[in-house]
Amino acid sequence: MSYTLQDQALLKHSSFIQGQFSPAFAGHFAVHNPADGSLVALVAQVDSSQVQQAIHAADQAFALWRETPAAQRAALLRRWQALMLQHQQDLAILLTLEQGKSLQEATAEIAYGASYVSWFADEALRMNGAVLPALQSSQQILVLKEPVGVVSAITPWNFPNAMILRKAAAALAAGCSFIVKPSELTPLSALALAELAQRAGLPSGVFQVLVGTQAAMIGQHLTSDERIAKFSFTGSTAVGKLLLAQCASTVKKVSMELGGNAPFIVFDDADLDAAVKGLMAAKFRNSGQTCVCVNRVLVHSAVYESFLAKLVKATAALVLAPGLDPNCQLGPLINQAAVDKVHRLLDDALEQGAELLLGGTIDADLGPLFFQPTILADVTPDMAVSQQEIFGPVLALTVFDTEQEAIELANNSPTGLAGYFYSQSVARVFRVAKALQLGMVGVNEGLISNAAAPFGGVKESGLGREGSVYGLDDYCELKYLCLGGL
Ligand code: ADP
Repeated sequence: MSYTLQDQALLKHSSFIQGQFSPAFAGHFAVHNPADGSLVALVAQVDSSQVQQAIHAADQAFALWRETPAAQRAALLRRWQALMLQHQQDLAILLTLEQGKSLQEATAEIAYGASYVSWFADEALRMNGAVLPALQSSQQILVLKEPVGVVSAITPWNFPNAMILRKAAAALAAGCSFIVKPSELTPLSALALAELAQRAGLPSGVFQVLVGTQAAMIGQHLTSDERIAKFSFTGSTAVGKLLLAQCASTVKKVSMELGGNAPFIVFDDADLDAAVKGLMAAKFRNSGQTCVCVNRVLVHSAVYESFLAKLVKATAALVLAPGLDPNCQLGPLINQAAVDKVHRLLDDALEQGAELLLGGTIDADLGPLFFQPTILADVTPDMAVSQQEIFGPVLALTVFDTEQEAIELANNSPTGLAGYFYSQSVARVFRVAKALQLGMVGVNEGLISNAAAPFGGVKESGLGREGSVYGLDDYCELKYLCLGGL
């Protein structure tokens, strides 16, 4: 499928270090389009000395950036955000080319990512401390909020733009300098943000992007260098645990946005049409490849048949197509490993007695990564599909009989990121919302993520919150001053 960028200079091919797109010292790696396997770009591998250079530059930049008045930091962030919206279409095309999601979703992601930049530009102005009453009349207690220091981050491929901006906007607003290693599958969206950061006038070393396939090498530097004060990660729980351990040697502050296993509960008093609508949004966004995508659909036995009939109709109507096709509602999965995983989970469930009602395999006419929207019934909690993140367009349905059973099923996971439930009873809404062991709950709502809300999980889903009035605190330290002898 053909495309043209209005601004070709947004397509960059190397890491952005110390205010420059760096030369290639260590060869190149390929970025492929998941829709057809075509080559999108060859990108230079960052090497170890360049990672060191970036850390040095970030350290130097921090000294100046933290002293830059908040209003000036906010103004630069707003200029960066305006450029993102001005180039929204080009950024969306690049995102679809490297990631696969529909152009419509990619366009929305650019606006969503940019919304964190404007949000935190405003929050920068309100990095307020406090004056606290002391226990002695000769003392006064002051609390200052200070930027934590140089921040490093590693981000995944499912939101190549927004997962970076959620972190970078908060860090920069607080006065931290920021280095990110995006996923090697989707480096182009990150590099385009660097180009726009430069155009916006962000000082050298304040925002840097390191791209390469040597994730472990880059990660080692970013989690162990003592000049880095904080590490922020979004990705799988397994890699998150590894990087968290690596951060221990220098006791870095950490934010971790890890995996989830989102339940979606349909109670017998739910508005079934609204529930189907919410489920379609919460399940099939990005072809099921988000950490807040529904993993387990729990339906009350009394409404199961009528809910299922509506769900099959809505799911069968979804249009699977390349992301740049204007009709696309569901794009390809990211790579063959993702397709293989979905197949594995389906095979396991079917072997153990689940029933396939729709889909179940790839659409070979479109290509090897286009997985059909799939519905699996009679799923039990012990099946792998109930226990692991599917990260694909599969609805796995389990029936329950009581509210208590639904809550127990929903909480039956070591992770606790997002979850959803539909009920028209006020008392039940409060009961169930309180009982769910989750960081985020959609009540009669399938799309919950936005800049005003604190995004994050409990249990093994992570540490910290992104976005909202609380998000800046993850990038601040409190300093207490005790004024004595008054
Ligand atoms: P996903 O399953 O979403 O790809 P991963 O946790 O594998 O999640 O990847 C998220 C990010 O972590 C990517 O940028 C990837 O390159 C990076 N990553 C993966 N393994 C390591 C590692 N050992 N050290 C540092 N970064 C890693």
